[in-house]
Amino acid sequence: MTSACVTGLLWGDEGKGKIIDLLSEESSYVVRYGGGHNAGHTLVHEGERMVLHLVPCGIRRPGVVNVVGNGVVVDPFHLAEELAGLEKRGFDVRLGENFLVSELCHLVLPLHRTLDEVAENLRGDAKIGTTGRGIGPTYSDRAARLGLRMGDLTRPRRLADGLERLLVQKNPILEAFGESRVDASELSEQLSRLGEQFRPAITDTGRVLREAAARDERILMEGAQGVLLDVDHGTYPYVTSSNASTCGIAAGTGMVPAAIDHVYGVVKAYTTRVGAGPFPTELEGEEAERLRTAGNEFGSTTGRPRRCGWFDAVAVSYAAQLSGAQSIVMTNLDVLSGFDPLPVCIAYQLGDGSRSDYFPVLDLDQVTPIYEEHPGFAEDITGVRAFDDLPSEARHYVRAIEDRIGIGVGLISVGPARDQVMRR
Ligand code: GDP
Repeated sequence: MTSACVTGLLWGDEGKGKIIDLLSEESSYVVRYGGGHNAGHTLVHEGERMVLHLVPCGIRRPGVVNVVGNGVVVDPFHLAEELAGLEKRGFDVRLGENFLVSELCHLVLPLHRTLDEVAENLRGDAKIGTTGRGIGPTYSDRAARLGLRMGDLTRPRRLADGLERLLVQKNPILEAFGESRVDASELSEQLSRLGEQFRPAITDTGRVLREAAARDERILMEGAQGVLLDVDHGTYPYVTSSNASTCGIAAGTGMVPAAIDHVYGVVKAYTTRVGAGPFPTELEGEEAERLRTAGNEFGSTTGRPRRCGWFDAVAVSYAAQLSGAQSIVMTNLDVLSGFDPLPVCIAYQLGDGSRSDYFPVLDLDQVTPIYEEHPGFAEDITGVRAFDDLPSEARHYVRAIEDRIGIGVGLISVGPARDQVMRR
């Protein structure tokens, strides 16, 4: 196998960061293909916890080239901060060597953040619950052919023309909403300075990756968010603004779809969601609180409490099918210790009373989950490193889920640290 992808099969926060960090050991390249610094991937190693937002999760592995593909939207101010933070912690980030960023990445500017807030406020009661980081407005400008790109930062003429093209449209909108106009010369100066800083890293990453693939180098694609947040195939409009599923890989990297040999679909042993939108197996009240506390379910980017619920085999089957997952990685199995029974949603009852084994993406807000219950386990399993050493109820739970979704669980995670994992 040469190239693989790690993708989340839920609404994000599945624990992809840890798994990418783990699998990057066998990779030459780790590549982000979508999203922006709204993503937050948590890595824990030797007691140290760090959250990466734009920098790919292979950064702790010597010899791995970390690539921000063209499908990612980059806030250059944030990137400078994230790189400085890594340097301060002693990470060896060498621009142009183990860190590359596509010259085609669209830029998230401060005005996009302002417009994100304006748009969210206008939604009133129908808020999407965005991270407010300007990601949506940046993708909108990309589609509207207004965007500035990473390569423009080092090309003064393109930068000036691009800013003019953008501001002629945005300044009247900002003013109409009582926000300050953006001064082109000030912004241009700041961006040029950042361009000089990033210059060694800015390159044609599509070419780099295609050439690496031709040499049979191992490339690991790092999914951000999750399949159910995909702008096309997720629970629209409560989604992110990019193709977070594996559908986004070719467009977001410049590689052909066939370049990916294996897709790892990451799921938690239960379900969480941040922000608004339908969530059939969501728990309320005390039970939700218990699961949230046990799993420390607070967003790594926003700190918001995550909504929590039982495992949804219907949703996961849909996401696995859509993303072509060949094996499942189950994280947070340790969190379920002490919950008994363990319900798994195996079908939905639709609004008209009929039963559906399939995920009705448009009518998800009208379904009622149908559960199958499994016996729980009480043991602390955070120290277990072999499947056969898990309590029989935990093994049974994993096998029941495998049977239901028809894909093997190849990796099980029982804690945040890199070594709290077992292969099967
Ligand atoms: P990502 O966005 O998919 O990378 O996920 P996040 O990093 O936002 O959230 C996952 C959270 O769960 C982080 O705090 C991880 O450190 C933690 N985590 C990952 N795997 C496990 C696990 O198996 N058990 C527990 N208890 N926590 C885990």
